[in-house]
Amino acid sequence: MSNMSKKWIYGGFGFLIFLVAVFIPQGKASAFHDVPEKYETEIHYLIDRGIIKGYPNGNFGPDDPVTREQAATMVGRALGLDGRQRNTVFPEVDASSYASGYIQSAYEEGIITGFTDGTYRPKKAMTRGGMAYLISKAFSLEEQSSVWYSDVSRSGSQYEAINKITTAGIANGYSDGTFRPTQSITRTEFSLLLARGMNDSFKVSQEEGVIEERVTTDVLNVRSGPSTSYTRIGQLAKGAVLQVHEVQGDWLKMTAGSLKGYVHKDYTVRKTSGSRVIAIDPGHGGKDGGAEFNGLVEKEINLNVSKRLRDYLENSGVEVIMTRTDDTFIPLDDRNSYAVSQGADTFVSIHANAFSDPSANGTETYYSSQSLRVTDSKQLATFIQKRLVEALGTSDRGVKDVPYRVIKETTIPSTLVELGFMTNDSDASKLGSSYWRDKAAKGISQGILDYYEWKGK
Ligand SMILES: [Zn+2]
Repeated sequence: MSNMSKKWIYGGFGFLIFLVAVFIPQGKASAFHDVPEKYETEIHYLIDRGIIKGYPNGNFGPDDPVTREQAATMVGRALGLDGRQRNTVFPEVDASSYASGYIQSAYEEGIITGFTDGTYRPKKAMTRGGMAYLISKAFSLEEQSSVWYSDVSRSGSQYEAINKITTAGIANGYSDGTFRPTQSITRTEFSLLLARGMNDSFKVSQEEGVIEERVTTDVLNVRSGPSTSYTRIGQLAKGAVLQVHEVQGDWLKMTAGSLKGYVHKDYTVRKTSGSRVIAIDPGHGGKDGGAEFNGLVEKEINLNVSKRLRDYLENSGVEVIMTRTDDTFIPLDDRNSYAVSQGADTFVSIHANAFSDPSANGTETYYSSQSLRVTDSKQLATFIQKRLVEALGTSDRGVKDVPYRVIKETTIPSTLVELGFMTNDSDASKLGSSYWRDKAAKGISQGILDYYEWKGK
């Protein structure tokens, strides 16, 4: 790409950021301590109208999923539909369900259609794609434009609805250019879509994908302004990825992690897809604690080891995507697809085992023959298992073919690691120790690097 067109794109990107900033109204103090500050205005717009409610404990639950019955109820309230409980066309939604009135009304209005088997599946999480359909119907959206998301096929069944809500300024996808239609919608995301549908002042424009560059020199200075006369505020190592917001002469205004500043454009290149990008998936999280034995909670072990693993891999020049970095619940079905949407070429899920018989012990690693990448998945599992057993000194239970949901039917090589048994005294003492957690992380990282070497990457 020529320098001129590169500049033009950067310029356009900056302008879009400006537009978005202008159209987000200022928030006000929240009654719920956990309402994201950035979206307080939209969320309170709905709370004030009785459309969405917080929990009795005073939380809003911004990252919680929205079930399909909750979605119908909130949309029904927003549109002022008849919410009186009554029989519905859906066999599994009878008059005793609190949502039955809104579900039946929404059906009569053509806002919901249910599944092809005639069910509505009210307790199932609403996906972002499903919500696009609901919103496009609820607000009778017709207009379409040349909308593009990297993970939404133009010939797919959801494209039209996603296009309509994007064209209407109700959704703009993620900053990486994805829409993630199969991901469960969170209460915050849902609130934004609904508020934007109801009130034009909340509307947004589709952002261009984030422009990322990679550092090509050993040490790159980050400065507070666009010339060498400005103070050096940090440094980036070779291979580091930075997000470019704007070009000012020879300088890029950028963000890299928590570092914000300017770097000289001669020392970076556009990030290409030949690089190694691994997704680490710390199993469980939030309301799903996983197993709990011997004073250990699985979700905590998984996250702790995963963060150590991330650090080892990043130090080796591998780009790492984490499916979670804190104690957040993420539905199983979203984990691998999120990794793919973020550009991951490989997926590793970290877990700890448990069994009724406390003598069961050892380390095992899984792949699934139902993955679209069986050979690579099995090879990845084999390398990790070998290094991990060496590192931990646990017994070797081998590599096994089990169709766990996060590793089956995947388009990238995927594996699931069971570090050891929380129910076994010897394994548990290692799982609870920082020393051994670090050993485990290092072992897994070596297995992953073995795999990349084997792949010629
Ligand atoms: Zn687990």
